[in-house]
Amino acid sequence: MFNRPTVQAVGAPADFVGEWFRVTVECFREACIEFSALNLPPPTIATVHQNRINSLLYEGGRMKSALVCGAGGFIGGHLVKNLKDRGYWVRGVDIKNHEHAPTAADEFVLGDLRDIRVCESVADRLFDEVYQLAADMGGAGYIFTGEHDADVMHNSATINLNMLHRVGKVGVGKIFYSSSACIYPAHNQEDPDNPRCSEDSAYPAAPDSEYGWEKLFSERLYLAYNRNHGIDVRVARFHNIFGPLGTWVGGREKAPAAVCRKVAEASPGGEIEIWGDGKQTRSFLYIDECLEGMRRFMDSTFLGPVNLGSDEMVTINGLAESAMGIAGKRLRLKHIPGPLGVRGRNSDNRKIQEMLGWRPNRPLREGLEKTYAWIEKQVAKRA
Ligand code: NAD
Repeated sequence: MFNRPTVQAVGAPADFVGEWFRVTVECFREACIEFSALNLPPPTIATVHQNRINSLLYEGGRMKSALVCGAGGFIGGHLVKNLKDRGYWVRGVDIKNHEHAPTAADEFVLGDLRDIRVCESVADRLFDEVYQLAADMGGAGYIFTGEHDADVMHNSATINLNMLHRVGKVGVGKIFYSSSACIYPAHNQEDPDNPRCSEDSAYPAAPDSEYGWEKLFSERLYLAYNRNHGIDVRVARFHNIFGPLGTWVGGREKAPAAVCRKVAEASPGGEIEIWGDGKQTRSFLYIDECLEGMRRFMDSTFLGPVNLGSDEMVTINGLAESAMGIAGKRLRLKHIPGPLGVRGRNSDNRKIQEMLGWRPNRPLREGLEKTYAWIEKQVAKRA
């Protein structure tokens, strides 16, 4: 039943087969519990074996290693899968499991990165790459009400302080930090047709949320560790990343997911609610292009900060129209008061083009079709 030549190829020790059976039974039991909690068909023995074999390859120094902080989240979950597809050994860490899919990581640690002991235990060695995506965050309904300000600042800053302190001690190949377009001054984003979000417009600083202020502080922290401790950092400012397997309900969802959900839930001829007049502008980057940009950035020698976003700007009304077009539903837009954020925002992609010779270029509609299809299924499952 087991593929003996594969084990020899890995260079396993003679007592490995006994250990292999023990670990397989244990891992298989855990995997069955995890898959069943997610209502998925049971995993195969082959999947479980592959993880163990990967661990051996990694321990033998034959695979690149990555630590993904925030691996139970939307971007972190996709990133883990992407790193696995490219042959990395991956350890993920998060305070919660991924809500929509089993992790693809070789190891997944449930832990709170506000606790320095957790940071010490997950960053227990020199990883080739560390991705620090863990943050207390959400869409406008979470960030702009003011109710979560203290938590957002305290929790996210503590995670960044801890992780940098730890990798400063143990060393790291490169560490990636996910900053945000929310760091840009609110006064440069009042005209919905001409927002100013070039990287050099960040100062004098005036973000419109405490979330943005924490991101700006942490950007500076990463760059300070680079200057003072020689840590090789990469700082990217994400602009509204979206796609399947993200938060789509519950208050932390972002505009594309919220709009897709409302359209999927509405009966033909009905209406959906939009916060404000819907004329506020934004751009949205599909997850696959975000991952491609991260890879290109990590492989470059540029430290950032750099915008990672689409420059296809749309109004929120326009976003809703696109989702309705995909769904084949004609719905009325009902504009209601709600948390809004800045009036206009778009990714300025001149710097990324200059430094990486690449910029995101896929149309919004393409990513929205895939996202709508996934959210429509979630809505149907819940009904
Ligand atoms: P997400 O909320 O899905 O992922 C963040 C993860 O961090 C969550 O799974 C959460 O459980 C985890 N986390 C929070 N506190 C933790 C703790 N104390 N210990 C361990 N894990 C903890 O968000 P995302 O959309 O995947 O975003 C990833 C990163 O990118 C975040 O830093 C976010 O601020 C940044 N970002 C995202 C966007 C976007 O549009 N998605 C835009 C700008 C910046």
